[in-house]
Amino acid sequence: MDFEYKPSVLAFITTYSCNAGCEGCCFRCNNEKIEFDLEKSIKNIELVLHSFPTIKLIVFTGGECFLLGNKLYDLISYFSKEGLLTRCVTNGFWGRDKSRAAYTAQDLKRAGLNEINFTTGEFHSKKIPVESILNSSISTAKEKINTLIAVESNDETQGNLIQLDLIKRFDNINDLESIKKIKIMKTLWIKDKDYLPSTFYERQYESKGCDNIFTTITLTPDFKLRSCCGLFIDNIKIFEFSPKIDNNLKNFYELQFNDFFKLWLRVEGPYGIINYIIEKEKGLKVPFFLHQCQACYYIIKNTEFRKLIEKYYKEKLDDIVIRMAVISRVELKNLELVGYSI
Ligand code: SF4
Ligand code: SF4
Repeated sequence: MDFEYKPSVLAFITTYSCNAGCEGCCFRCNNEKIEFDLEKSIKNIELVLHSFPTIKLIVFTGGECFLLGNKLYDLISYFSKEGLLTRCVTNGFWGRDKSRAAYTAQDLKRAGLNEINFTTGEFHSKKIPVESILNSSISTAKEKINTLIAVESNDETQGNLIQLDLIKRFDNINDLESIKKIKIMKTLWIKDKDYLPSTFYERQYESKGCDNIFTTITLTPDFKLRSCCGLFIDNIKIFEFSPKIDNNLKNFYELQFNDFFKLWLRVEGPYGIINYIIEKEKGLKVPFFLHQCQACYYIIKNTEFRKLIEKYYKEKLDDIVIRMAVISRVELKNLELVGYSI
């Protein structure tokens, strides 16, 4: 099937190495030393960008991308000069010391970084002190880099408390101008990524198309491409859309539009698929999910549920294909209109 859908974001998992080793890390990152080849990385990213000129933003993530040291600044600088927007995702460990936080932020600014996302919360703070996040985020905000802190928790109430505590700590810091520029958001954390919920409910989820699939493509440290940057992409074979990086990428990307399941995910999301199947199979119970990627993992890995999708998907063909055509036109228009810097 032909759609004019194009990716706009490339997430590059630089390495799976991380100094934190949080419980529930989606890639089980730890301090293992993994070699990183800057030239090879740049070459592969260039190939991806060549195939997808609509990509405007590159996200450097991991693992902990700041473990790359100067090579991270080289990456940012290289692609900033090429006219791309850049973002880093970090646990903020480099903010333990205020002066280190300040000069790191200055180096990031010089390299041309546009955005930085910090993650802290219930599980991260067991490994990286919250003070590190305070120091590093204030330093990047001072350098006028768009700064966002994601506060994770396994439990919504607990997440609210951690967020309030973080805001209170900011209140005690005498740098209002910088603090005002920092955005804080909550995010749910799944402690055990292998866990498939076993408590079943008859319930309705709110259907919402997944605007990540097809839009954000992920480049892994071994240079394979994935269809989205969801939580479980390493464990879901169907999301590996290109076996290697070469000039054929665009074809491999577009071949995905023949996969109706992916179209359905884009248009109605995993919850929408679950809702439809529940409507058909009265009395069917599904687990309680904390995150839509967890629901996605469930409907892909659960053999019984997959059989139900196979049984009913044809009824949805026309509806989903028509809506996908509309969505892809709108997304294409958005690509022309919207920038990414906040
Ligand atoms: S900081 Fe992030 S990448 Fe590192 S272990 Fe924790 S969740 Fe994983
Ligand atoms: S819901 Fe599924 S398709 Fe969407 S980001 Fe998560 S894993 Fe990827």
